[in-house]
Amino acid sequence: MPWYSAGLRFACTGCGRCCTGGDSYVWVTPDEIRELAAAMHLGLDDFGRRYLRRVGLRYALLERPGGDCVFLQGRACAVYDRRPAQCRSFPFWPANLRSPDAWARAAGSCEGIAADAPLVTADVIERELAAARESGLTADDPPQQDPSEHGAKRRR
Ligand code: SF4
Ligand code: SF4
Repeated sequence: MPWYSAGLRFACTGCGRCCTGGDSYVWVTPDEIRELAAAMHLGLDDFGRRYLRRVGLRYALLERPGGDCVFLQGRACAVYDRRPAQCRSFPFWPANLRSPDAWARAAGSCEGIAADAPLVTADVIERELAAARESGLTADDPPQQDPSEHGAKRRR
């Protein structure tokens, strides 16, 4: 039984903090790239030039100076319905679920993790965790722990 078998309290407030902050990546899979490009009526090359950077063998979304994700508009995501699995599954990432302490540290960068937030059941958490793993995140990734480094995108 995982330590969070009784569920965890979280509801996104839409603060946008997890979409900004330098020194991080928003990974996108080939399927996600194809879906985003099609939704924006762009060819893959055009989409890649405008929105992607290559990192090793993978692709990540571009950032603006200061670390905002290229799709962040104010506090909102311009591609919310098609945002990558990494974004959808936050904060239920492997590193944040390693332990109660890791989860408590994640609360430092995500105001949606709060004692008075609605309870998210273990089943839902497991589903989000699986999606995060599929997007390439592992428990070895740095947990979200330092509020001074605002932003909860995956750190380098
Ligand atoms: S930091 Fe947390 S509360 Fe804020 S937008 Fe991201 S998931 Fe939602
Ligand atoms: S794709 Fe959207 S949800 Fe994901 S980091 Fe960028 S603005 Fe945030």
